[in-house]
Amino acid sequence: MGSDLTGHADALQAVLTAKGLLQPADLEDFHHKVTEEWLPRNGARLCARAWVDPSFKAELLQDGRAAAASMGLAMPEHHRSLVVLENTADLQNVICCTLCSCTAFTIIGMAPGWYKDLEYRARVVREARTVLREMGLDLPPSIRIRVWDTTTDTRYMVLPHRPEHTQGWSLEALEALITKESMIGVARLEPPYTGG
Ligand code: FE
Repeated sequence: MGSDLTGHADALQAVLTAKGLLQPADLEDFHHKVTEEWLPRNGARLCARAWVDPSFKAELLQDGRAAAASMGLAMPEHHRSLVVLENTADLQNVICCTLCSCTAFTIIGMAPGWYKDLEYRARVVREARTVLREMGLDLPPSIRIRVWDTTTDTRYMVLPHRPEHTQGWSLEALEALITKESMIGVARLEPPYTGG
């Protein structure tokens, strides 16, 4: 966070605390949730299980919120639905929030800094392939790209394409492979494409 922004945040916190609108315990609770509960490993658990369990995958694609709840993963009430987008060998789904920075943060973790940048939000919808290339994902032309714009009540998670070389891996090893970036859709989990 830039020093200006930190100053603003501190000033806002002081005013809200002085008015009794913010308790120190609220901040501690939020900090705890961000650092201990709302972690990308939640989404990674859902994705890894979907890779190995076809009936769970069907549930996850049908109703992500219910499938997450069935594994003990809650979402805020205003996140009315979790839409899970399946990447394949020839399709790359990418999520963004053109208005601000919404994500299914209890499932995939808090939005990375670049996700909130106007640069990403404005450009990924117009020139996704170029933006992805700049972020290190150089997709061959055979892979189509679909960009999904998050709203207040519809949150997205990308189900990454399972790399061939992970056949036979344990659930734990699969979970460890799945990153926040892959669930946003700006990364794939296969070894890097060499083109051609
Ligand atoms: Fe937003």
